[in-house]
Amino acid sequence: MNTFSLRIIHAIRQVVGQQQANLHEPTFSGNELKYLQECINSSFVSSAGKFVDRFESELAAYTRADYAVAVVNGTAALHVALLLAGVKPKDEVLIPSLTFVATANAIRYAGAEPHFVDCEQHTLGVDPEALRHYLSTVIEIRHGQSVNRRTGSVVRALVPVHVFGHPCDIDGLLSVARDFHLMVVEDAAESLGSYYKEKHTGTLGLIGIVSFNGNKTITTGGGGAILTSNPELAYRAKHLCTTAKVPHSWEYSHDKVGFNYRMPSLNAALGCAQLEQLPQFLESKRRLFERYRDAFKDFQAVQVMEEPVDCRSNYWLQALLLDKSAEDERDNLLEDTNNAGLMTRPIWTLLHRLAPYQDCPRAPLPVAESLELRILNLPSSAGLS
Ligand SMILES: *Cc1c(COP(=O)(O)O)cnc(C)c1O
Repeated sequence: MNTFSLRIIHAIRQVVGQQQANLHEPTFSGNELKYLQECINSSFVSSAGKFVDRFESELAAYTRADYAVAVVNGTAALHVALLLAGVKPKDEVLIPSLTFVATANAIRYAGAEPHFVDCEQHTLGVDPEALRHYLSTVIEIRHGQSVNRRTGSVVRALVPVHVFGHPCDIDGLLSVARDFHLMVVEDAAESLGSYYKEKHTGTLGLIGIVSFNGNKTITTGGGGAILTSNPELAYRAKHLCTTAKVPHSWEYSHDKVGFNYRMPSLNAALGCAQLEQLPQFLESKRRLFERYRDAFKDFQAVQVMEEPVDCRSNYWLQALLLDKSAEDERDNLLEDTNNAGLMTRPIWTLLHRLAPYQDCPRAPLPVAESLELRILNLPSSAGLS
């Protein structure tokens, strides 16, 4: 093992101690069993149970979105959010290449094409200036819609992602979206508890989504939610996710091809218990960040990713950013840290390199391509601090 690896392992051990450390484990130290028991006793374990309504209203109150619609997972939430934003087959939807694959998958479920754009280093989110410049070269505005000159397709929406919980430059992106007639669907899957200028992420565009997968900040086992302040969209979200059943006491009438996407009450019961602990989780994760920052302060070539100015990050996954001078060390570091029982992971392979997405339209991606080689996620569980 080289000295760089030894120093990095030493720094991580200063924070997590001598134990093995996973990347992200959930913590169940509240009312989980109590609420699950209550849910089972009620016999309403599926989506008609009271815990679904309760989870939705508590989530809406927490995020200050007017409406939250709980669904089976974040990907399903994004699928429905895109449909509600008016995304149609053959449309293009702008997304960062630097995101989890679900962002692109949801676009394909809607029959549309991802169109990849670049990000900026200090937020890891879509770069508004680069986006504006790029769109001004490829877009022609026709009848109040953005049309990609090269493909002839309508570019309908933009999906900003708050990577690792760090809010991206939403004001900048909303301004570009306004000028290019783009609907904004926020992928806040990773950023429950993160704020952009006092506003909760996922509530800044037309519609947003969060995820409660097992590795996210709070978990419902599997789950997600659609957030919006628009009552009409909230109603349609719930309707589409409930097989588009027309409300009636006994008749089965469905006015669309809907989805069976509602969150079951069992999962929502878990969610209610987890949501009660969210403030503690956030505090622990912030403390963990501060300890990593201190442990790495004497390193020249690495930096612990910090929340952008005017933002409050949930610090979902801690990220170590290597300087270009150290990028050749990344694979060694992955090998050595994982062998030492410290689970680290590289950032995602850029989506435009994946087989299903390699032919999609894309902007120049110099920043994403550089970051791809230089980011390592560190053990990040709230329980570690
Ligand atoms: C986790 C995640 C999703 C999808 O959420 P699931 O609940 O796993 O379906 C979408 N986008 C991003 C950026 C994510 O990290």
